[in-house]
Amino acid sequence: MRAVNPFREWPMRKLFIKTYGCQMNVYDSDRMADLLAPLGYGVVETPEDADMVILNTCHIREKAAEKVYSELGRLRALKDAKAESGGKMLIAVAGCVAQAEGAEIISRQPSVDMVVGPQSYHRLPEMIARVTRGCSAVLETEFPVEEKFDSLPEERISRGASAFLTVQEGCDKFCTFCVVPYTRGAEFSRPPADIEREARRLVNSGVREITLLGQNVNAYHGNGPDGKDWGLARLIRALADIDGLERLRYTTSHPRDMDDELIAAHGELEKLMPYLHLPVQSGSDRVLSAMNRQHGRDDYFRLVERIRAARKDIALSSDFIVGFPGETDKDFDDTMDLVRQVGFAGAFSFKYSPRPGTPASLESQLPDEVKHARLQSLQALLFEQQSAFNKSCEGKIFSVLFEKAGRKQGQAVGRSPYLQPVHAEGALSLIGTLHKVRIAAALPNSLRGVLVEADARTQAKEFAH
Ligand code: SAM
Ligand code: SF4
Repeated sequence: MRAVNPFREWPMRKLFIKTYGCQMNVYDSDRMADLLAPLGYGVVETPEDADMVILNTCHIREKAAEKVYSELGRLRALKDAKAESGGKMLIAVAGCVAQAEGAEIISRQPSVDMVVGPQSYHRLPEMIARVTRGCSAVLETEFPVEEKFDSLPEERISRGASAFLTVQEGCDKFCTFCVVPYTRGAEFSRPPADIEREARRLVNSGVREITLLGQNVNAYHGNGPDGKDWGLARLIRALADIDGLERLRYTTSHPRDMDDELIAAHGELEKLMPYLHLPVQSGSDRVLSAMNRQHGRDDYFRLVERIRAARKDIALSSDFIVGFPGETDKDFDDTMDLVRQVGFAGAFSFKYSPRPGTPASLESQLPDEVKHARLQSLQALLFEQQSAFNKSCEGKIFSVLFEKAGRKQGQAVGRSPYLQPVHAEGALSLIGTLHKVRIAAALPNSLRGVLVEADARTQAKEFAH
């Protein structure tokens, strides 16, 4: 595969990045590619023969580190093969496993050249220089978060119609199950002016939809150009004024930080998509308190009511953890009850996974069979709700942002306002644009649509006959 690099024609170095975990890691991987492009690195889709491989890792649930070590074993063989043919492959481990394991990675897998935490990856060019000058493996796991955003290139390689933009990092909430405050550090918000500049550049490169990212995105509070503290709602209003930007989303939000202004923005801003990811984790007050979530189940119900009052067509998704230490059958029933009462269009659900260094990992753990059975019941209910929501979309007309070619000839795939993948025939030339689509059928995980003009033309033809 030919490596593509907009900065240099040739010679070209091949960069392979494997991304694990959340959208924030996807954003970070893209930014690492932007950072290395001026050094002649172009992204390729397989690690064979790459000059540099980065594993951008996630530590949120169990076995993450083990997966990384087995991937490193495979990469070692590729590195040896490259060395035998006279070449050199550099291997870097980035992301939250790098932050959590640090030097342990290099001692367990000496073929690793660089270990870089999520707040220090702007130092990669300098780290590469040190390694190629013959230094032994290099480690960077500090938390200089402001420095990172200031050091990343302003230019971003164009990657399609929809883009992520990190506005906030880290977390101060310390939920008792979560490693994020330890691996990503304290909460930090980027200044609105920097975010707006990055958003305008994205739009100029063809982006039509931006998803604002943060581990706790609605805790955003940046120092505005007017000298005032801007919350997420104020930031979204400013970005909604950018011509050519058609859609805005944000994730992941915490129920505690959904303030009145943000709820009002959902009712007022057409560009803010009517789909909100609002993790609740559990429907039991007892478990929510043990998780240190800082809200109860009734708070969540009241919040959902207010959001739905502001924007009637909004759909919700959520995250759930089952089998948290001490969770009883009654607690789990409360979660099932909350799901039935709220009704979700989609959701992610996980078995509780003890994370080293977090308070809940020290508690006595539930047997895996219990976690497994609860997860099965919850996922069955959530799937039922997702299918019902998709079915309710049949016959509706949605604006779809087409992003890529589909599997069938002439077909393109885009996203509805509710993030559902929508396939439509004859839409290939519409990639990168928004187009009206009538939803013809709901499939288990996607929708089949017909372009509205094409639909109208077909009907007119049928009528003429
Ligand atoms: N900040 C978000 C919030 O407050 O809900 C969550 C961000 S976290 C990166 C993404 C999701 O991973 C969480 O919502 C939770 O459901 C899940 N998660 C985090 N730690 C977990 C653990 N130890 N075991 C199982 N799932 C976990
Ligand atoms: Fe983790 Fe989210 Fe809780 Fe922060 S608010 S500790 S990111 S689950």
